[in-house]
Amino acid sequence: MVDAAERVTVLTGAGISTDSGLRDFRGPQGIWTRDPAAERASNINVYVSDPEVRRSNWARRASGEIWAEVAPNEGHKALVALEQRGKLHLLITQNVDELHQRAGSDPDRLVEIHGTTRKVQCLSCENYRAEMQEVLKRVRAGEEDPPCPLCGGLLKSATVSFGQSLDPISLARAERASLECDLFLAVGTTLAVSPINMTAQLAVQSGARLVIVNGETTEFDYLADVLVRDSISETLPLVCGSDTHPQTPKR
Ligand SMILES: [Zn+2]
Repeated sequence: MVDAAERVTVLTGAGISTDSGLRDFRGPQGIWTRDPAAERASNINVYVSDPEVRRSNWARRASGEIWAEVAPNEGHKALVALEQRGKLHLLITQNVDELHQRAGSDPDRLVEIHGTTRKVQCLSCENYRAEMQEVLKRVRAGEEDPPCPLCGGLLKSATVSFGQSLDPISLARAERASLECDLFLAVGTTLAVSPINMTAQLAVQSGARLVIVNGETTEFDYLADVLVRDSISETLPLVCGSDTHPQTPKR
């Protein structure tokens, strides 16, 4: 199907990054399971109204407890190979880890629908956007809740928090790419998070094939032409045709 396809739209979720050692949010060892304060900070109303939540959130980030240093894996690289074959129409990711860019995916063909935790933005003005590490330097230098250097507003990681809307332009791009593709590839997502999960359904409704690669069942398994329920980093190179020395995935 990938060989026959001309425009492949891909949606990725947390499952593609777990083989990089990135912890999920809600699993037994999840970031929020182990640290309920981090979950509270992910609600925009709590974040804006409670300075203590912001201070402890910045302190946790500055101490490196939230995101360990991780590298892209074979799953991310397989999608780069798909792009190099000229087949990638758009890569939509629910992930906020920037591992697709670090693997070499073209940022112009990438939509980070839930934002990125590697950058910081101002909640008051639209003019300030900076690397997370730049702001964490200020935190380590003693600023417990660093304000926007341009307007004095509150700073927050450039993720879409609970209670915030998705960027309408990014959502429109994702939806259009789903209508335009002839193959939709969903990877490492249970397709349970609305509204971005609906892109898979849109693609099917407009006549595209649907391939789901995920370690567990998803909401839209019943719509899929092919289900691959196996290790993503082992199987995605085979699916994308990027593995020059194919091996039979262990099962
Ligand atoms: Zn500002």
